[in-house]
Amino acid sequence: MNATDATNDARTPAGQDRPALCPRCAHEEITAVADSPVPGVWQVFQCARCLYMWRTTEPARRTTREAYPVGFRMTAADIETASEVPTVPPLLNR
Ligand SMILES: [Zn+2]
Repeated sequence: MNATDATNDARTPAGQDRPALCPRCAHEEITAVADSPVPGVWQVFQCARCLYMWRTTEPARRTTREAYPVGFRMTAADIETASEVPTVPPLLNR
């Protein structure tokens, strides 16, 4: 277990498991970034690779790899070759 795992485990409320995979890109490095004001109600996680974020109370199609829509899934290659959106326009000439 590395330091990241220890941090996540400490912040995971009872009854909620830290996801093993990012729902969008299947990356395994998931970080807990926020907890509900009332402890143990929900948690927000973020993927370290694609930066996708989700709250544990969202439906399975947003929170699990198995139910995430196939058309919106990403691979490492998709992320590396993604175009810059929006592009930065050229400077105006005066
Ligand atoms: Zn991801």
